[in-house]
Amino acid sequence: MTESRVNDHGAFGARPVGLVFDDRYLTHNTGLALIGDRQPHPFAEPVAHPSSPELVGRAKHLMDLHGISDRMVRIAPRLATDDDLLVYHTPDYLARVADLSAGAGGDTGEGAPMGPGGDRIARLSAGGAMAAVDAVLAGDVRAAYALVRPPGHHAMADRGVGFCVYNNVVVAARHAQRTHGVGKILILDWDVHHGNGTQDAFWRDSSVLFISLHQDDLFPASWGAVDQVGADAGRGCTVNIPLPGGTGNRGYLAAFDRIVTPLVRQFAPELILISAGQDANVMDPLARMAVTLAGYRGMMARMMALADECCGGRIVISQEGGYAAAYAPYCSAAVAETLVGLESGAAPIDDPYGPRAESLPPSRAIGLDCEQAIERALATQRAFWAV
Ligand SMILES: [Zn+2]
Repeated sequence: MTESRVNDHGAFGARPVGLVFDDRYLTHNTGLALIGDRQPHPFAEPVAHPSSPELVGRAKHLMDLHGISDRMVRIAPRLATDDDLLVYHTPDYLARVADLSAGAGGDTGEGAPMGPGGDRIARLSAGGAMAAVDAVLAGDVRAAYALVRPPGHHAMADRGVGFCVYNNVVVAARHAQRTHGVGKILILDWDVHHGNGTQDAFWRDSSVLFISLHQDDLFPASWGAVDQVGADAGRGCTVNIPLPGGTGNRGYLAAFDRIVTPLVRQFAPELILISAGQDANVMDPLARMAVTLAGYRGMMARMMALADECCGGRIVISQEGGYAAAYAPYCSAAVAETLVGLESGAAPIDDPYGPRAESLPPSRAIGLDCEQAIERALATQRAFWAV
């Protein structure tokens, strides 16, 4: 994708791009971090939880400072109802989250803490993704970025997992199908961790193509192996592309060009949802990938081209992870900037750290281990797709 192609897309805009954001997202309280069992010697000084408010807050502020949010239509989130959440989550889980929320807060499952009143914010997060779907499918906007918090893709039917309370993208996809009559949906998950909850929700479902690119065997354990392909009618509609640590822009974009693009064309979705965690960035503390702003711009441009080709440009981005406070927000802002398009003559956001990373091997060449990972994914997918 060339820069001019992105500009053209921005100029396409009789219909603008939407933004879901709400200051209440910043009040989701994950507390202080002591991740995992570090007894008998916890950290000498507590540090902020990785999923802190400042990540999404800084992304929003960067979008403001660079004039991106000014060119987006604000979409108000709504509160997901029990009925909305029960498309995936269990009644028992909803009751447990409500109890925690009414009390002192706590862990909703496995490493997904929230403070008092957290249920309402988590519902506002899922409802944010739903509101973005509504705006796109009503034709008010051609695409939308739901800059929500807490994230969603790890959340399972009966428990929160990995900072995620409700599975925002699952709830939004089911909402699109139930309320708007959408048939086929693509969920593309480029968060560096595996979207286990999303995979679980659509494991036997051929109406949703779930594609996850993630660091191999990172989190959660045992999820996201290349041979996890779905079951029954859903066989072939779960696509895992585990990539080795150190994969940078070139490896990611090769995976998009060689696997994602042909599969999406064949599936021909009516709506595209992106689980966009920017934690494959080169500075992230919770992963070991080497993606820079240029890589995120390239992935976003490829998804926009596919959306133009398949579904009238309809994309809903739902924010997932991204934990490098100094860098992940830049990646999110660059994704939004690409989606909105540059104004004529405007310079894109300057990458504060990327150029140094881009002089390193992962940005200059596709590693042999990455090449092998792509080949393994292709070999697996040839049972279902022409690739
Ligand atoms: Zn993640």
